[in-house]
Amino acid sequence: MSDDSIILRPQNIHELLVMANEYPLAVIYAGGTSLFPQISSGLKEIPSHTISLEHVQEMNHISRTEKYLEIGARANLEKIYSIGPPVIPDTLLKAIRETASPSIRNISSIGGIICSGKGSSSILAPLYLFDTLLEIRSLSRSRWIPISRFISEKGSIQLREKEVLTRIRIPFGEWNYQNYRKSLYNSKSRDESLSFCACIRLSKNIILDLRFAFGGVSKRPFRNREFEILFLGKKIPFRTEELNALISELQFYLSPKDEKEKPIAYQTRCALEYCRYFFEEINLGIHHIPG
Ligand SMILES: Cc1cc2nc3c(=O)[nH]c(=O)nc-3n(C[C@H](O)[C@H](O)[C@H](O)COP(=O)(O)OP(=O)(O)OC[C@H]3O[C@@H](n4cnc5c(N)ncnc54)[C@H](O)[C@@H]3O)c2cc1C
Repeated sequence: MSDDSIILRPQNIHELLVMANEYPLAVIYAGGTSLFPQISSGLKEIPSHTISLEHVQEMNHISRTEKYLEIGARANLEKIYSIGPPVIPDTLLKAIRETASPSIRNISSIGGIICSGKGSSSILAPLYLFDTLLEIRSLSRSRWIPISRFISEKGSIQLREKEVLTRIRIPFGEWNYQNYRKSLYNSKSRDESLSFCACIRLSKNIILDLRFAFGGVSKRPFRNREFEILFLGKKIPFRTEELNALISELQFYLSPKDEKEKPIAYQTRCALEYCRYFFEEINLGIHHIPG
């Protein structure tokens, strides 16, 4: 940062919101792992005011109720990972383990990942999968919004001036099986990865709920409830023809209407393959998956 740049250090959420209100153009600084590289490479201007979340302890809290897990936006990935199963869903644990190195995970916050709004982030797809809710606060109001509405189709985040992401709420679900996979399609860039996650709830081999989310196939993670609903009430194992038909259907849903948004063929192919592996694993493991 330059000598003229002012760093503000609120001690609690109230002070943070007062400062965000007073300096609407100030940049929030959580772990800085995304912010600093952008500033040093010239992608972002040096802000005149930066608000550091370092001392806002309330934003580090992780708690649970019967229905959901609640994570403060400043909680770092290692802290979330250390809580482990069953509180942290399997897919999220795997996604964290495959994100950066332990030292980067020690400073990268979950709120920073969400507010970076990168559709290829390996953490965002699991958050989409579980219908995560975000608490957005300003001095004058507070709102909860689904993560699916937070990042626009074009990849920009829906945070207004003076607003801060304060908490992340992940509803618990009773899943019989979850799966997460990630591949880097450009080994030179950590931003270019494809992630896949899925979870399934069964009763006597009948699908009661099935969800898929993909990161890296468009500007924001991809999830389509219309496609997921096609599976409800179906019995596993799937026959090969049935599986092929479902994969073709997914190909249709994965193709965005806007030609410019069309994902690179490789990513789509990879996403379809991961989906196929998931079903094959379910078919193979049918006797071991409870439900
Ligand atoms: C070496 C390396 C490897 C990486 N590998 C991966 C990977 O494999 N997968 C992956 O998904 N990511 C990866 N990342 C990205 C990393 O996860 C993000 O840089 C990081 O999570 C951002 O968190 P942060 O706390 O450092 O955010 P910051 O850099 O502090 O902030 C990021 C943005 O969010 C805003 N912001 C932060 N918190 C809030 C808040 N509470 N309210 C409002 N705005 C806020 C900031 O103003 C800024 O615009 C990697 C990063 C590095 C450096």
